[in-house]
Amino acid sequence: MKKKVLVSACLLGINCRYDGGHSYLNELENDDVDFYPVCPEESGGLGTPRPKAEMQDSAEDILSGNGKIVNINSKDVTKEFIQGAQLCLNTGIEAGAKFAILKSKSPSCGLGEVYDGSFKGKLQKGDGIFAHLCRKSGLSCISSDNISEIKKTVQKPKQS
Ligand code: SF4
Repeated sequence: MKKKVLVSACLLGINCRYDGGHSYLNELENDDVDFYPVCPEESGGLGTPRPKAEMQDSAEDILSGNGKIVNINSKDVTKEFIQGAQLCLNTGIEAGAKFAILKSKSPSCGLGEVYDGSFKGKLQKGDGIFAHLCRKSGLSCISSDNISEIKKTVQKPKQS
């Protein structure tokens, strides 16, 4: 049976990034994996392109109602981020995915580090909202920066 992998849609070449582009990762080219591409920000109703957004608080605080995400125009987009993340997680659960490959640094998909809320390109420790929900639900989460782990997860073992 094919491995089922939830994946940030921009990593498969879908133009869903805030700037209208994608973050295609050719290590994901593999017909032996069933990919389930999701974009939490689009699913939350934020269009593409859209103003850049950054977390002002940790994912835990934001999800418990004690924090927010704002875009570069100071608009609060917390509700859209949370709704989109939950919808995308449901897609993965319904599919029976055990893995999630997530775009690094994003306020939705970032794993381990995200932009710090200053819109100055600075990073801080933490997960994006969707990444946090994926981890909590028990999915094995892999950052798009972790190429060796991605190869191990999605690529066929070489035949000897
Ligand atoms: S990083 Fe996540 S939210 Fe951002 S464009 Fe890619 S899939 Fe969408």
